[in-house]
Amino acid sequence: MLVRLRHGLASGELDPLLALCRDLGYSARFLDEGRRLLELSGCGDRTHRTRLEDHPGVVEVVDVGDSHELHARGEERPDTIVHIGGAAFGGGHASIAAGPCSVEDYDRLLELARGVQDCGISILRGGAYKPRTSPYSFQGLGIVGLEMLAAVRAETGIAIVTEVLDPRDVERVAQVADWIQIGTRSATNFPLLTEVGRAGKPVLLKRGFGATVREFQLSAEYVLDTGNEQVVLCERGVRSYDNTTRNLLDVGAVAHLVNATHLPVIVDPSHAAGRADLVLPLARAGLAAGADGLIVEIHDDPAIAKSDGQQAISLQQLRELTHDAQKVLALDGRTLSIESGPSTRQTSSVQEPIQ
Ligand code: PEP
Ligand code: MN
Repeated sequence: MLVRLRHGLASGELDPLLALCRDLGYSARFLDEGRRLLELSGCGDRTHRTRLEDHPGVVEVVDVGDSHELHARGEERPDTIVHIGGAAFGGGHASIAAGPCSVEDYDRLLELARGVQDCGISILRGGAYKPRTSPYSFQGLGIVGLEMLAAVRAETGIAIVTEVLDPRDVERVAQVADWIQIGTRSATNFPLLTEVGRAGKPVLLKRGFGATVREFQLSAEYVLDTGNEQVVLCERGVRSYDNTTRNLLDVGAVAHLVNATHLPVIVDPSHAAGRADLVLPLARAGLAAGADGLIVEIHDDPAIAKSDGQQAISLQQLRELTHDAQKVLALDGRTLSIESGPSTRQTSSVQEPIQ
């Protein structure tokens, strides 16, 4: 490990730092006369980078050596592949999840699920609990929405990704979800990250809209630290000074993360664009930057959607997007998980009430 120290540390500051290095199991030696570059030799541990960065005498950890955090690719760590139903993310596999922003009513959800399956897509998105900026906006149907998702899952065999907002709802959401979403507004809700990790289901972690890439990685670390390795990162755009698009899709972060972490990385072009007409180009850009898949909002009648109608694409556009995705992925030898037609698999014939 290589650590850069603050200039002119007094021995009263330096001695405790050297003692910390010894406690962490390292032998330390300075590489320069000014005693600012400290080389640490010893066994690494995922906690050491933060422990050292938290010390007031440390400017930065220049090289983590063997002290890789859990999300980091490290040396020769293979891609983590996350399976959700018949879909796979990572390791050369890409997949798409699609569905309405919110669960609105059963018949609409079922029709959309069938339409999604007709496109060969096997994961349905839909929020029962909605994180809305205003308390007066539609907040989602809650448990009733979860029951609709469970019923559609049982009817069609489609896998479900849905968001949880409150640590107290995690168990309930995990009964229905094949993949649990943590939204951008919850990316630093650390108790929620831990609770979702412990649920043992695959996790879809969105980047906080004001989070640096490092902060995003550390949000993932909270989930991984519970022992749950089934984490998919999602770039959904960050705040910028320009409101031409709702958010600024950070394709650079996608390109960086696919190398910096072993976790799959997907793109949400819908919340990045905030406009239906830009969803397809942003989806293509995300995949071209190396993303392992997409999550996309659709609606059959966006004008009456209860949330995010302005960015919902049609099933016809979703079909186009699926074709485009296959072409873009083929450029670097990757494949899209596609099912040949509507699945008739019944996940459960008897509906258990959601507690
Ligand atoms: C959503 O998926 O509908 C959503 C609210 O996403 P985000 O957390 O990225 O805003
Ligand atoms: Mn939405």
